[in-house]
Amino acid sequence: ATYLEELGYNAAAVFPNFKYREDVPGWEVNIPEISLKLIAIRSGTVSLGFSGNVGLKGYGAMIILGCVVTSAKLTPTNPIPQDESFCDECKLCQKVCALRMFGSDDLDTITIGGYAFSCAKRVNLARCQIVCGGLSGLDKSKKWSTWSPGRYPFPTSDKEVMRLLATSINNALKWPESGDEIGVDVYELKNHEDFLNALGDDKEKLVNMIKETKLTCGNCQLICWGDPKETAENYRILTNSGCILQKETGEIIVLPHEEAER
Ligand code: SF4
Ligand code: SF4
Repeated sequence: ATYLEELGYNAAAVFPNFKYREDVPGWEVNIPEISLKLIAIRSGTVSLGFSGNVGLKGYGAMIILGCVVTSAKLTPTNPIPQDESFCDECKLCQKVCALRMFGSDDLDTITIGGYAFSCAKRVNLARCQIVCGGLSGLDKSKKWSTWSPGRYPFPTSDKEVMRLLATSINNALKWPESGDEIGVDVYELKNHEDFLNALGDDKEKLVNMIKETKLTCGNCQLICWGDPKETAENYRILTNSGCILQKETGEIIVLPHEEAER
């Protein structure tokens, strides 16, 4: 943004997460100021994968998008053709989502500027909020987990998912400190001034939200490395990594799934 301003254009960085529109009813849930993902797939910056993550050939989904809104006049570009997508539909991303947020083989399709884009249907976003938010980590198979010590039976309906969300939040509030809390304190980041500026008017609320959120997943993105052999190896490592448990002292331990179940 600074570079474009130096060239004489208006420019502003877009904060990519935790910041949602307040001018639309329901904004609290999932309407970002601008969807980086949708702009990026339509402009041909990246492709949309089966998981719903975006990626690039050779890199898979292991990329992070940034966005600047500017008054500079840019030349519009078209999407990456499907046969040049990074995604070979191996569907291993589906199997590393502990609560199978996109566990159906049905597709969601969205049309932007005359082009259609598809990815696996979102079964229920709360399944990701529970796992990615660190409230539960035990996989449907019960053979491995994320870094969350939360262990609950696999919910089979939306009603069970919402019950699990409420129960797991209540239980997580009682977890002992592990000494390894992983929420991010924005004030400890290098260059945090720039970061805070991008947060806009609700800085303190957002800073607290980021600090309290203990993200313990991202598997659907992290597993996908743009090379089928490496992605398969990532899947093998993760699904043989055991289960996380927390002792009463707060200590986090890793056990084989048979021992963790006892
Ligand atoms: S793991 Fe990556 S390549 Fe495989 S289906 Fe998912 S998004 Fe596509
Ligand atoms: S981040 Fe984790 S919980 Fe969320 S959709 Fe991806 S694999 Fe599932």
